[in-house]
Amino acid sequence: MRKPIIAGNWKMHKTISEAVELVNEVKNKVKDSNVEAIVCVPFTALSEVKKELEGTELKLGAQNMHWEENGAFTGEVSPIMLTEIGVDYVIIGHSERRQYFGETDETVNKKIRSALKYNISPIVCVGETLEQRESGKEKDIVKEQVINGLEEISSSDMENIVIAYEPIWAIGTGKTASDEEANEMIAFIRNTLKEKYGQEVSDKVRIQYGGSVKPSNIKDIMSQSDIDGALVGGASLKSEDFLKLVKFQ
Ligand code: PEP
Repeated sequence: MRKPIIAGNWKMHKTISEAVELVNEVKNKVKDSNVEAIVCVPFTALSEVKKELEGTELKLGAQNMHWEENGAFTGEVSPIMLTEIGVDYVIIGHSERRQYFGETDETVNKKIRSALKYNISPIVCVGETLEQRESGKEKDIVKEQVINGLEEISSSDMENIVIAYEPIWAIGTGKTASDEEANEMIAFIRNTLKEKYGQEVSDKVRIQYGGSVKPSNIKDIMSQSDIDGALVGGASLKSEDFLKLVKFQ
């Protein structure tokens, strides 16, 4: 049984005080759910939010990291800095990072390997553009992202990896992939993992859907056979919506 996993990706939203306010509204309420709940907050708020989460079930994630431990990389944040804070998860390869900050499958792979080395679980994002879907290439693109991103990652490491399928055309647009479209791609990703790692591993890896998930559609999305959770942007920024997502059952 794969435990459902709902992660809020706050993107570049919330000051430290706003972040603390939001987590205090939700942190003690997520435990009544059968879901692993995560907030992926901006770097500036990580330390303060971590203190607020002490003794609660709500997990903490970063939205990016560099793969090196330290060095001349102005403006970057390293895995060692994140482990000192006590971050549980890190989003790697979000489409906004690929699109605006030049991330490639190669840098995604370096970041995944580095996160695993420092005991931070990566949430690895993959997904196609609208143009790629319309030209019928979506499965090839997503398979390539999965295979390249997971190069030299062992079967045992796969236990600590979450994959998020986020069709780019559905992120922040209000358009969601239909439940069947999302499930079909996620089943395809699971099959790709099966080819690489075998059935046992592919059965265990949790794969989320992301793209305009909100309280009104979470239940239908989560009822699909291969979808294990959601990576949520906009709808994770309000405490009442985030709680509704976590308590979708
Ligand atoms: C995301 O940020 O990963 C995302 C899916 O955003 P939204 O839910 O706003 O579409």
